[in-house]
Amino acid sequence: MRILLLGGTTEASSLAEALAARDMDAVFSYAGRTAQPAAQRLPMRVGGFGGVAGLAAYIQAHSITHIVDATHPFAAQMSRNAIEASLACGVQLLALERKPWRAAQGDDWLHVPDIAGAVAALPDAPARVFLAIGKQTLAPFVAKPQHFYLLRLVDRPDALPLPNATAIIARGPFDVAGDTALLQAHAITHIVAKNAGGSGAEAKLTAARALGVQVILIDRPVLPPRQVAGSVAEVMAWLGHSAERGV
Ligand code: NAP
Repeated sequence: MRILLLGGTTEASSLAEALAARDMDAVFSYAGRTAQPAAQRLPMRVGGFGGVAGLAAYIQAHSITHIVDATHPFAAQMSRNAIEASLACGVQLLALERKPWRAAQGDDWLHVPDIAGAVAALPDAPARVFLAIGKQTLAPFVAKPQHFYLLRLVDRPDALPLPNATAIIARGPFDVAGDTALLQAHAITHIVAKNAGGSGAEAKLTAARALGVQVILIDRPVLPPRQVAGSVAEVMAWLGHSAERGV
């Protein structure tokens, strides 16, 4: 058994710990989006594979038998490629997927299907927006230049595409006290976030509830059917069963 772990999330790092602790034969793969990705106790590779064909070639060249897709729920291209390549190569695929966040009492959430929907949902009157969506999809918000935008990024950007924006540099997980202070310090009126689920980025939603800040929450992209696990323990059990069956 040789496992390819597609990472880039807190859960992927937890799974890497569990695999390393059991001396399992696994490679951890990063896209290479951040300048200094968190170190892992597994052998690491960094960078795209080159689409489905590139991933299939990697699987064959490295005798991969199992893929665990623990990428972010919005990393849809990588997840689609993993589904296609696993079918083409006849290797097992399991996704480690967090449950989406659900509104609780006191939440003021507006669900939108995508980034364009989030831009459209922002008001016309100037607002103070915490744009908690990373760095890759900021440009569409240029259509609403009247707002102040607060960004939280892992790496310091060279230039920001938005005219009235401030970037703070920080890496999760984040806590409620810190996020409450952040929202208050910047007088935030709206948060735009992806429905990532999990605990590492949830604090801003708890802080927003207490402060009465509106959250514009982007729904997850829809993926083709695939086998899904909800926890590291479930993935380990799946790998254990596969090992017992000798596949
Ligand atoms: P994406 O749009 O699904 O992927 C674009 C391309 O990046 C893929 O086709 C693949 O290139 C490469 N790639 C993505 N994940 C990879 C991985 N783990 N190992 C090797 N190559 C990978 O993904 P994205 O939204 O840009 O996210 C990139 C990475 O950041 C992901 O690993 C994800 O877990 C992490 N992340 C994303 C978000 C988010 O909001 N999207 C948030 C937090 C963390 P090739 O086609 O050349 O193989």
